[in-house]
Amino acid sequence: MEAIRQAILEEASGEELARLPLPDTMRAAVVRKSEIDVFDGLPSEEKDPRRSLHVDEVPIPPLGPNEVLIAPMASALNYNTVWTSIFEPVSTFGFLEKLGREGELGARHDLDHHIVGSDAAGVVLRTGPGVTQWKPGDRVTVHCNSVDLEGPEGHEDSMLDRSQRIWGFETNFGALADISLVRANQLMPMPTHLSWEEAASLGLVMATSYRMLVGENAARMKQGDVVLIWGATGGIGGFATQFVLNGGGIPVCVVSSEEKAKVLRGIGVEHVIDRKAEGYRFHDEHGRPDYAEMRRFGKKIRELVGRDPDIVFEHPGRTTFAASVFVARRGGTIVTCASTSGFLHEYDNRYLWMHLKRILGSHFANYHEAWEANRLVDLGRIHPILSKTYPLEQAAQGAYEMHHNLHAGKIGVLVGAPEEGLGVRDQEKRGRFAEQIAVFRAFE
Ligand code: NAP
Repeated sequence: MEAIRQAILEEASGEELARLPLPDTMRAAVVRKSEIDVFDGLPSEEKDPRRSLHVDEVPIPPLGPNEVLIAPMASALNYNTVWTSIFEPVSTFGFLEKLGREGELGARHDLDHHIVGSDAAGVVLRTGPGVTQWKPGDRVTVHCNSVDLEGPEGHEDSMLDRSQRIWGFETNFGALADISLVRANQLMPMPTHLSWEEAASLGLVMATSYRMLVGENAARMKQGDVVLIWGATGGIGGFATQFVLNGGGIPVCVVSSEEKAKVLRGIGVEHVIDRKAEGYRFHDEHGRPDYAEMRRFGKKIRELVGRDPDIVFEHPGRTTFAASVFVARRGGTIVTCASTSGFLHEYDNRYLWMHLKRILGSHFANYHEAWEANRLVDLGRIHPILSKTYPLEQAAQGAYEMHHNLHAGKIGVLVGAPEEGLGVRDQEKRGRFAEQIAVFRAFE
């Protein structure tokens, strides 16, 4: 593996890379099937990814049709790796077993270890039969929508395909490995002004936010819309904030510290609510929704922007959902992609139907949406929100921090890259956006 890594760092040609033999085994961050009950009986917050996410030596996956082997130079952590490593709400080995029942190619994924990771920037090493658009040596970022499009359902929107899966979560052979297996239709050109770890930190969360707010398939924000964004310096929230600013909307950003509020002001956000300082508690001690608190929250938003939100960007779930429905304007939209604090939500439906609001479910993004979001980065309209980077061996520490909300923005992981800052191709372009790229580094 060392020879391949070195060749990439020295910018060897695609032909040279294709000639280098692949090793039989590689390093990979995995959870082990033998450990799925290791946290049984513990509350969620005590389940520690540092006990369950290991870096093991595992075999290289065999390449199939329309697939590509890439060498991730960097990856980034997503909340899905937290879920996988604490085996909640279900063990991801169930996904792999199901995939394993779907024929010979699916069977490759059903192993006693699960290689995690749904974001990568790296270099194509090998292409399988049928791949025509990519070749060894191409520098790529990867989006995580894995589909085969064999059935009719996904041909208008691949997220509706019956085979749709999140790579590195519902499939094996994710990005936290020396070599990773992806479908050719997951690849996108790496933005030329970014380092490996910056480019790797975009994919999953950025495309998710793009679909929720910008694309045709969810809330379709327009200029002037007031958008309430929970967790506005988190992974999806940090990109949501940028898409709203970039698209002429008015973000009202909710965060939990002054430090985070300061970073948001630094990127041009006028309206920030510090939920900790305000002490909002939208449920009483019995877990019942507290509408006086929600009214107080809604009043705060009106004081800031003079109207109720057209769109609420929702993902914390149980603790905020009732408030999100309550504060959205008459006819407004609550767009949700997650339930971090609990997926059973209670809200008063009268506030929804009497005020003609709508709730939209959204999940990752199709290839076109991911591509368009990636293009905005290449154009310098949207920037990475990377705050810190760990080597592969410490990926579990990053997952721990994410689980306990100790981070901001994205946590990168160096895989093939020996240090941060490598991989930039266009220094002049980088210079133009250096200030914006550096904003989230304030958290380091
Ligand atoms: P993240 O980086 O941890 O950010 C989440 C943010 O939410 C935190 O920074 C925190 O900000 C805020 N938050 C956490 N708990 C909260 C609570 N109880 N009330 C209010 N705010 C809270 O995670 P992420 O990558 O943005 O992902 C967020 C969620 O979306 C996860 O559940 C993830 O699995 C999901 N997700 C889903 C998809 C999809 O395709 N369906 C894609 C990406 C992510 P403050 O503490 O500053 O308020």
